[in-house]
Amino acid sequence: MRSLYVHIPFCNRICTYCDFNKVLIKNQPVDEYLNALKKEIDSFPETNLQTIYVGGGTPTALSMKQLEFLLEIINNKFGTASEYTFEANPDELTTEKISLLKDYGVNRISLGVQTFNNNLLKVLGRTHNFDDIYRSIEHMDKINLDNYSIDLMYNLPGETNQDIEDSLKNIEILKPKHISWYSLIIEPHTVFYNKINRGQMSIGSPIKEGEIYDRVINGLDNLGYPQYEISNFSKEKYQSEHNKTYWLNENYLAAGAGSHGYIGDTRYYNIKPVTHYINAMNEENSVVKERIILNQNDMMEEEIFLRLRLNQGVSTERFEEKFNIPIYDVYGNAIKKHIDLGHLQQYNQYISLTDEGRMIGNDVFVDFLIGD
Ligand code: SF4
Repeated sequence: MRSLYVHIPFCNRICTYCDFNKVLIKNQPVDEYLNALKKEIDSFPETNLQTIYVGGGTPTALSMKQLEFLLEIINNKFGTASEYTFEANPDELTTEKISLLKDYGVNRISLGVQTFNNNLLKVLGRTHNFDDIYRSIEHMDKINLDNYSIDLMYNLPGETNQDIEDSLKNIEILKPKHISWYSLIIEPHTVFYNKINRGQMSIGSPIKEGEIYDRVINGLDNLGYPQYEISNFSKEKYQSEHNKTYWLNENYLAAGAGSHGYIGDTRYYNIKPVTHYINAMNEENSVVKERIILNQNDMMEEEIFLRLRLNQGVSTERFEEKFNIPIYDVYGNAIKKHIDLGHLQQYNQYISLTDEGRMIGNDVFVDFLIGD
């Protein structure tokens, strides 16, 4: 097994755009949740992990004592991993928490920056501001935990070209090792969605999304962060190995409310609500809500969709090795069509999206659906 994902569904405030599985931490049964999580993690088979990723929610919303308990649970079962990441919010990342994480082998932080513009941070409902971002990075430097990624978003309501330029300027100053920069998608059941429906807010940035995406890719490339996935960029040797587990379509374990894992040919999905998760673990000793066994067609589709997200693309050799059939026998027409249209390209054994194809990814993917 390559990887483990652990979900901590608690936050100090709920952001206006968020549709992750999370709850306000106040008055939540956090200790009971961690005890249930311990039971789930203890039930996993012994295995050496290459990557561990603790996300949320916000893991740094936990108290020092709770954080230490969580680190102990993971450490007792799996030891550490060559890449061990914790998600963190800038205003919650104290030197004490960074030291504690580092003592337990955490060697990478994924910092939820989102934007460097204080007004946009307020619109997003974030608890941190510009100064908190710089302060948290100073703290990491002080504790020598310098492998950090920053999460950013574009396509924000009222965003200007200057905001994108400011983010690039701050990246140039801060020199993170890795950047994830996603386009904001307004999901149903979020505060944003309701405001748009009531006519209180307009959708997205006034700038064309394709223009911003282009500027993000080129701006980061000029700063030494080549793109390696649709929304991810890194310095050499600092690509996210954990997220590559997903995009390379490899197996991984997942623990916590609403998390999902992939073992052998089965994807499993855990119960989402925190209290249901705790009760299920205590009463039935299982928190899995659903197991989906993939057939060969499902697996081939996933291999294409996930691997095409990576700039490296799909390996024709691995495809044939894994599925015992040449990729051209299954997808010859779709590949030819999109190479002719300039959406796909082939280099040695790899078939990948071109820059143009990346802009319209879903239109390409749809031709790779096999159906039953
Ligand atoms: S901190 Fe993250 S998980 Fe929590 S509400 Fe905000 S976006 Fe959602």
